[in-house]
Amino acid sequence: MRHLDKKSRMIFEKELQTRSESKCELCESTSDLSVFEVQPKRNENPDDYAYLCGSCVEQIAHPDKVNANHWRCLNNSMWSAVPAVQVLAWRMLKQLKGEGWTDELLEMLFLDEETQEWANAGMASDVVHNDANGAILQAGDTVVLTQDLKVKGTSFVAKRGTAVRRISLVADNAEHIEGKVEGQRIVILTKFVRKK
Ligand SMILES: [Zn+2]
Repeated sequence: MRHLDKKSRMIFEKELQTRSESKCELCESTSDLSVFEVQPKRNENPDDYAYLCGSCVEQIAHPDKVNANHWRCLNNSMWSAVPAVQVLAWRMLKQLKGEGWTDELLEMLFLDEETQEWANAGMASDVVHNDANGAILQAGDTVVLTQDLKVKGTSFVAKRGTAVRRISLVADNAEHIEGKVEGQRIVILTKFVRKK
């Protein structure tokens, strides 16, 4: 929502609350709701935004945290009339492809041409993350640090050889991944890691 000024943001939020009856438009949860901008950004139109709970937002942002069972909610929400919600549903079903039930739902979900293009645009990522040796990194991989790294904003140094499990990729930056070191989630440069 950072692109909107304060007034439009309030109007937006109100519209989305009414539309969603103050429930997450994907899973119907009522906790921690916020306006979610579906990427890539199209218009500043309520149809291009969804009203989502914290859990859905978190899982959309971090593919390694996706809990397939949570997304059984798509059984209902994929029939939403809101393009932004259709796009999110379609992408999540694609991401969970191979779960059986997700394939069945995906077969039933038809998006109009424009909406489908939008959905595809968010999936087709030409950002490739390579490790120090040029190997392609994927979300969920384990990597090893190839040198000592000072963790920004702390006095903590992550030692060379430390394994970082279940990394996630920073979608818009090929040089950045995220992972947990000593319980802390940090951004790591891909040139300082080696895929395990
Ligand atoms: Zn939700």
